[in-house]
Amino acid sequence: MSQPHTSPWDSALAQLDEAAEIMQLESGVHQVLRAPKRTLSVSVPTRMDDGSVKVFTGFRVHHSTSRGPSKGGIRYHPDVDMDEVKALAMWMTWKCAIVNIPYGGAKGGVVCTPEDMSRHELQRMTRRYTSEILPFIGPEKDIPAPDVGTDEQIMAWMMDTYSMVMGYSVPGVVTGKPLSVGGSLGRAEATSRGVTYVTAATLQQENRPVGGIRVAIQGYGKVGKPAVQLLEELGCTVVAVSDVNGGIYNERGLNPSELAAHAEEAGTVMGFKDADSLTNEELLAVDCDILVPAAMEGQLTEENAAKVQASIIVEGANGPTTPEADAIFNDRGILVVPDILANSGGVTVSYFEWVQGLQAFFWDEDEVNNELKLIMERAYNDVLGVANQRNVSLRTAATILGVERVAEAHRTRGLYP
Ligand code: NAD
Repeated sequence: MSQPHTSPWDSALAQLDEAAEIMQLESGVHQVLRAPKRTLSVSVPTRMDDGSVKVFTGFRVHHSTSRGPSKGGIRYHPDVDMDEVKALAMWMTWKCAIVNIPYGGAKGGVVCTPEDMSRHELQRMTRRYTSEILPFIGPEKDIPAPDVGTDEQIMAWMMDTYSMVMGYSVPGVVTGKPLSVGGSLGRAEATSRGVTYVTAATLQQENRPVGGIRVAIQGYGKVGKPAVQLLEELGCTVVAVSDVNGGIYNERGLNPSELAAHAEEAGTVMGFKDADSLTNEELLAVDCDILVPAAMEGQLTEENAAKVQASIIVEGANGPTTPEADAIFNDRGILVVPDILANSGGVTVSYFEWVQGLQAFFWDEDEVNNELKLIMERAYNDVLGVANQRNVSLRTAATILGVERVAEAHRTRGLYP
């Protein structure tokens, strides 16, 4: 029996190795893709509101730039470490290749608890972190975006810090910016919209009508919250939602706008009227048709995979399923729509934002959403094609598709020098 894969980096490597074996990827390219291109670890000394100085640790990893500048979010969370950032950067590489946008993969993060920091402290930490990673980033080099614990205001501070050093405004250095400084219409909901398009395509492929489909969503942040609204608009019934404090359940469905208003006021989904409380563990095992993990990685494991009642899992989060849980879902006939396909709507509209910024010409929201739909449906069909052709899971197919496109670019460019 093989050892369980505990860290996200182990999971990411296991997924790559499996795909490489099936594709019979040449060893040289496989070795190149197993190692991140660059890793940077920085100290981020920050003046706190009480006058003291706290030194945070930050990271930025470029996994690959074979297909273009690297792209990936910035995470502020106490559990950030180099292995997690490396895994998230590798997944970004495959994701950008699957949706066929001209980027490689990157990721960054700072070990901190943003909920315990004031906006002033967050601003000072963000600006110092940006200046420490400044030689690594740029519109033609590497373009950060929001992730867990970061938001459009943090992107605005990063963009401003970079621009101050350069001496002119450089909106293309980050995406997920506010509209007032060059953000794109549709970016805030893009990841959830992509999750919704992929859910619709999956249900159609499975010949299951949308009406009556019950959905449970883990996480009520930038991905989970708009997903409640958009999946309801699609015709599903969202019966359960959770955040870090716990979950809520109502078999008749949760009203998206009332839930949003409650969470805005209470700071959590907990305590919503007309709903029972659940623990986070119970949410993953709740009676539903589709489970959407949209919080952190490593949530669906060997320990709880047997309890999942959903027949379809659509991964809004990155890396929510360990390879051991994946094998259990496969045996149980539970269809997993993998992260690198399901949540790629975010980076796709980030790409649109970057393109609009470079052209200084902005699209209306319908155009953004229509282009996103085209790209997501094409990516879904490409992944499905590989799955059918090779008789593998959607995750393996998606990884094979991503790896093959990156490998092809790498081979075409040749190994330097
Ligand atoms: P966020 O910080 O906006 O929200 C995270 C949510 O998860 C919060 O509601 C938090 O309370 C909740 N949470 C944290 N730990 C939890 C737990 N153990 N159980 C239940 N809920 C928990 O982050 P986000 O941007 O929504 O990102 C969520 C996931 O989606 C991450 O894996 C991220 O990498 C991935 N993702 C985000 C984007 C994007 O555009 N924001 C794009 C692609 C993938």
